[in-house]
Amino acid sequence: MTPLLIDSHCHLDNLGLNGALEYVSQLDAKNLRMLLLASTHPNDWLLNSQVAEHSDRVRVYYGLHPLEVSERWEEDLEHLRTYLPHAIGVGEIGLDFHGTFDKEHIPQIKLQMKAFEYQVHLAQRYHLPIVIHCRDAFFAIKEILMHTQFDLSRVLFHCFVEDLEAAQWIIENGGFVSYSGVITFKRAGNMLETAPWVPLERMVIETDSPYLTPAPFRGQHNMPEYVRYVAEKLAEIKHISFADCAKITAENALRFFNINH
Ligand SMILES: [Zn+2]
Repeated sequence: MTPLLIDSHCHLDNLGLNGALEYVSQLDAKNLRMLLLASTHPNDWLLNSQVAEHSDRVRVYYGLHPLEVSERWEEDLEHLRTYLPHAIGVGEIGLDFHGTFDKEHIPQIKLQMKAFEYQVHLAQRYHLPIVIHCRDAFFAIKEILMHTQFDLSRVLFHCFVEDLEAAQWIIENGGFVSYSGVITFKRAGNMLETAPWVPLERMVIETDSPYLTPAPFRGQHNMPEYVRYVAEKLAEIKHISFADCAKITAENALRFFNINH
């Protein structure tokens, strides 16, 4: 049987280069059609590019994660540009304001905003879609996307946990959302309200492994093959079969990232 699932957002750097290469050599056995690797920092840019060189079932998007933004962000983004000719997108980029609502964090927030906006411009220059990490920062992200006039049909909100109003703004402007294993948690919150509403053709699925392990494996290391639990849960919510859910979300990912495979 041909493998169906695409994990549209995972990290393999915790496995090291050899471990990652071994993992991607076993995708058939894990029913994974393709892995889209998210990048966060110069170290995983290099590792992900090496993994992609070894497998045509792996594609990579490159970005400086908001929590990796430091005083040397301009230098890092200069370096990032060298990867963009081989990238399927820019990400994960965005803003993470979790626990930063006090004065001492203002400088860090300002740096995050500068680095995010700069990367949005880079995506425009290289004609690439963007993958957004958004934590407690939806309005600030929306603001930057609007004033840069970024094409919203080329925006994917990864690990989407925002509310219905946010989902409506994204979908009505042509954007995409990605659901992770969090949707399998007992307290899936907003997702149980947005997932039934978001049109199937605008959703993709991910693990964000090694983080956010889905039920029934919570507390253990997450792996890309567990994306099937996200597909199962979404299939249940959308009243479709698992196979249809896997196939549709995979096709959405290929379309969004412009991958011919
Ligand atoms: Zn991630």
